[in-house]
Amino acid sequence: MLTDYHLHLQPDGVESRAEAAHRWTEHGGHLSGSWMARYVERARSRAVGEIAFTDHVHRFEEAREWHDNPWWRAEATEDIDAYCDAIVAAQKAGLPVLLGIEMDWLPRRQDEIASFLDGRPFDIVLGSIHWIEELAVDHPDYPAWDRHAPEVVWSAYLDQLVAAARSGLFDVLAHPDLPKVFGTRMPEAMRAVLHRAVRAIAETGIAIECSSAGLRKPVRELYPDPDLLAAFREAGVPATLASDAHRPDDVGCDYATAVAALRGAGYTSITRFRGRTAQQVELP
Ligand SMILES: [Zn+2]
Ligand SMILES: [Zn+2]
Repeated sequence: MLTDYHLHLQPDGVESRAEAAHRWTEHGGHLSGSWMARYVERARSRAVGEIAFTDHVHRFEEAREWHDNPWWRAEATEDIDAYCDAIVAAQKAGLPVLLGIEMDWLPRRQDEIASFLDGRPFDIVLGSIHWIEELAVDHPDYPAWDRHAPEVVWSAYLDQLVAAARSGLFDVLAHPDLPKVFGTRMPEAMRAVLHRAVRAIAETGIAIECSSAGLRKPVRELYPDPDLLAAFREAGVPATLASDAHRPDDVGCDYATAVAALRGAGYTSITRFRGRTAQQVELP
């Protein structure tokens, strides 16, 4: 069975959402069952049997004060409980959708993250490192790349990736080599550091995602790259499949490439989640 465990109901950024709003408005809003059904239809057309909505934590009012960044604060307009209720209602109506969230790893906000997750009926929690202190690895307006040398950014990123895995707060590390998004790859000399990080991540039992999103970004490559995916496999780290779609059309996008990469790395199964409990299912 194929799954898509990283989906957003709307694009990022106030302007992009305003431009796209007519699409979900005609369905009764982005939390309507009818809008979610568009994602399910696209999934079915690409032989994907189960999907998870994982909107960004920065979209929710409850997380507004977690970060000083003005973009982050402007994004925090949604009600987390309305989001959870809408997805649970879609499940009850029979749609094969999981309730998830893409949670930022913010080392100073571990207590807030834990209480945000506690008591809400999530099926899957993605852990993402988008920020290193006040700088972003993938936001062109707050670029870590202008301020620091590649070794510095990659090294800080890998430290945070391991810390996020060790925190025990997450089920899956999203887009594990995200800093390459604009094309700045990890210096070859850092391979040993990377492999230490892979071993540390493996000890925690967390999964990583194989994401086709990078193919739609300037780097034009899966997250993680084939060598890193093979290293995760070798270390015994389980994997999920994901598109990181921000609109129905991209659900299950480029899955032929992603599934071939998983197989090429030696994976024969992917991880399914329900109520934050993992189960391996055969990769078709
Ligand atoms: Zn992300
Ligand atoms: Zn995402």
